[in-house]
Amino acid sequence: MLQLKDPTLLRHQAYVNGAWVDADGGQTINVSNPATGEHIGTVPLMGAAETRCAIEAANAAWPAWRKKTAKERAAVLRRWHDLILENADDLALIMTTEQGKPLPEAKGEVQFGASFIEWFAEEGKRVAGDTLQSPWPDRRLVITKEPIGVCAAITPWNFPAAMITRKVGPALAAGCPMVLKPAEATPFSALALAVLAERAGVPAGVFSIVTGAPKDIGGEMTSNPIVRKLTFTGSTQVGRLLAEQCAPTIKKLSLELGGNAPFIVFDDADLDAAVEGAIASKYRNAGQTCVCANRLYVQDSVYDAFADKLVAAVAKLKVGNGIEAGVTQGPLIDAKAVAKVEEHVADALGKGGRLLAGGKRHALGNGFFEPTIIADVTNDMRVATEETFGPLAPLFRFKTDDEVIALANNTEFGLAAYFYSRDIGRIWRVAEGLETGMVGVNTGLISNEIAPFGGVKQSGLGREGSTYGIEDYLVIKYICMGGI
Ligand code: ADP
Repeated sequence: MLQLKDPTLLRHQAYVNGAWVDADGGQTINVSNPATGEHIGTVPLMGAAETRCAIEAANAAWPAWRKKTAKERAAVLRRWHDLILENADDLALIMTTEQGKPLPEAKGEVQFGASFIEWFAEEGKRVAGDTLQSPWPDRRLVITKEPIGVCAAITPWNFPAAMITRKVGPALAAGCPMVLKPAEATPFSALALAVLAERAGVPAGVFSIVTGAPKDIGGEMTSNPIVRKLTFTGSTQVGRLLAEQCAPTIKKLSLELGGNAPFIVFDDADLDAAVEGAIASKYRNAGQTCVCANRLYVQDSVYDAFADKLVAAVAKLKVGNGIEAGVTQGPLIDAKAVAKVEEHVADALGKGGRLLAGGKRHALGNGFFEPTIIADVTNDMRVATEETFGPLAPLFRFKTDDEVIALANNTEFGLAAYFYSRDIGRIWRVAEGLETGMVGVNTGLISNEIAPFGGVKQSGLGREGSTYGIEDYLVIKYICMGGI
C-alpha cells in the first residue's frame, strides 16, 4: 500500500459542492498501478445526474466567488499553491503509483503544476479593461472584463496534476467556478489536489471533481446550458466530438489536442546538444506527452553521426517501476498504449525501417516497452502521420531546408516543433516556416507557466499558461455611457 506522510490525501470519493461523495447508485471503477498491475483502489462511477448536481452547485457558488476581489481570490490560490508544494512528496508518490512516470519526474510535475496556481493568482490581479476614444462628444466608451461563468474541464492521464492546475488556476483566479472530470486512470492525483484546495479555503461548489463515465459526464458538461465554457486536454478525436456537442449551446472552447511534433537536426547543429534534447523530448514520460518529438528529421551529412550518438544515449536509459531509484522510463499507461507502439514498430520495420535500439515489449512485462530507435524511416510509414505516444524515435533523412519544412508541416497537427541549428538566418526562416503553436530552438523542453502553451490547425484552440491563459476564462463587456 502507499506509504504517504499524510494518508488523508488518498481519497476514494468524488468531491462535489464541498462534500466527499459516492455515486448515486454506489457503483465504482477500479484504478490500478501500470507498473505492477496491482489494484490501488476505487473511485465513484458517476454519470450525468451527479455532474448536473456539481454544475448547479457551481452556479450557486459563482456570485459570491466572483464578488470577491481578485486579491482575495489570489490569497486562497496562494495557500493552495503552498499546500501543494508542502505535500509534493505525497502527491508525487500518488502520481507515480497511478500513472507510472518516474518519481523525480512526478515531483517535477507537481512543482510545475503548482506554478500555474501561483502564476494565475497573480495574473488575476492584473485583469484590466480599457477606455476608447469616443466618436460622440456626449458618450464615453468603456471595456470591462468579466468571468465567463461556470466552466467544465476534462483532463487526461499523462499529466495528472499539471493539466488540472493549468485550467483550474486561471478559472478560479478570473472568478469562475469549475467542475472537472479527471481521466479514469489517474483520479487520485486530482482528488488529492481537491483535498488541498478545500484546506486552502476554496469555497464549496467553486471547484468540484466528478469521477466516472466519460461519455455520460462529458455529455452533461457539453449540453448543460449553465456551463459557459469547456476546456479539454486529450485526443483530437475526442476534442472534435466535444466541440460538436458544445455547438448547440455555443460554449466557449479551449482545446489542447494531439501533436505530431517534428524534431529537426540540421547539419550545423551541436549534435551532443541535439541528442540531449531528443532524449528529453522523446523519452520523457515514456513518450506520452502531446509535445513529445514524434518524427526526427536528420540532415543527410550528420544522419549517421546523430544516430550513433542517440543509440549510445538511449542505452543509458533505465526502464523500471517509477518508484525505484535511477529509473528514467516507467511503463506505458495501459495495454492499448503498448499495442499502438508495437504496431508502429511492426509497420515501420515491415516497410524497410532499420532497427537501431529496442523494438519490443520489455522483459519486465505489464506496460513496459523498450526505448526504441528506427532508422531509414519513410513517409509511407504510420509514424509519419500518426502520434505514437510511446518510446519510439523514428529517424527520417532530409537534404534541404525547404524540403524539411514542407515535411514537418505535412500533418493535420500543429502543436510543438523543435530544431537544432547555429545559423541565425536559418533559425529565423525555419521558426517562421513551421506551422505550429510552439517552437523549441536548440532545446527539447519548452513548457513553463510563463509561456503560452497551445496549438494551431487540429491541435487545438486557445492558449494555457502565460498572460494569455486567463483570457480564455474572461468575456469582454462594452459599456457605452451617454448623457454626459
Ligand atoms: P487519451 O488518448 O489521452 O486517453 P482521450 O481524449 O481519450 O485521450 O482522453 C482524455 C480525456 O477525455 C479523459 O479524461 C477521458 O476520460 C475523456 N474522454 C474520452 N472520451 C470521452 C467522451 N466521449 N466524452 C467526454 N470525455 C471523454
